[in-house]
Amino acid sequence: MGRRHDPMLLRAADPSTVGAMLPPGDRFSGRPRRYHDAVGATDLLTIVECGDPILRRPADPVDTVDLASEEMQHLIGQMRATMEAAPGVGLAAPQVGRSIQLAVLADGPERWGQLSEEERTARERGPLDFTVLVNPVVHPIDAGAGRVSFFEGCLSVPGLMGVVARHRAVRVEALDADGTPLARVFSGWAARIVQHEFDHLLGRLYLDRVETRSLSSSENYVRYWAGRPPSEAAHGLGFTLD
Ligand SMILES: [Zn+2]
Repeated sequence: MGRRHDPMLLRAADPSTVGAMLPPGDRFSGRPRRYHDAVGATDLLTIVECGDPILRRPADPVDTVDLASEEMQHLIGQMRATMEAAPGVGLAAPQVGRSIQLAVLADGPERWGQLSEEERTARERGPLDFTVLVNPVVHPIDAGAGRVSFFEGCLSVPGLMGVVARHRAVRVEALDADGTPLARVFSGWAARIVQHEFDHLLGRLYLDRVETRSLSSSENYVRYWAGRPPSEAAHGLGFTLD
């Protein structure tokens, strides 16, 4: 399967505001259970595929009291394990059947498949530590000017890849797994992952933004377009890049 190559299963971002940011005073206190300690391989979750209405519904904000619960911390661990097993670089709660504003992200060499140094540089793809975003709000930086186009795919849309123009950098406000507010800028590939995941929380799929003429089966992506700049796919398949 073409998954070995450029496994960039993502989801999320748009200037729209969805997440409800809670003031710092509202976050729960005390250390939560370590979400990654309590999960075994048998805990993998089933990934929902497109056509399921849950992927098209705006997700509900997570209540900070609920976030502190054992059940929610366990879910975060399960989502991490499921993302790693897929493998993917991001997973949003609606993709595992939970309509809540929660997403996990991570990227690193083990997910880069056969990407060359040159391809990684073009994508600005570097390591991204495991990150939990709860109730995120995503703001594009340099909206309009800084969009970049690359192939991406989605664990909920198996067997397809397509070119999506995304903001090169975004600023994110969210809560982390502990309920601590975070404000952080993501750029390059990490920004793409954030935008893809944020879209999932809004009930959107990358198919809503994809250059439709770029859509390729995983096999044909590997056969024709992997390792080549998106401009060649644009020329070969008949679409224009942003
Ligand atoms: Zn996705």
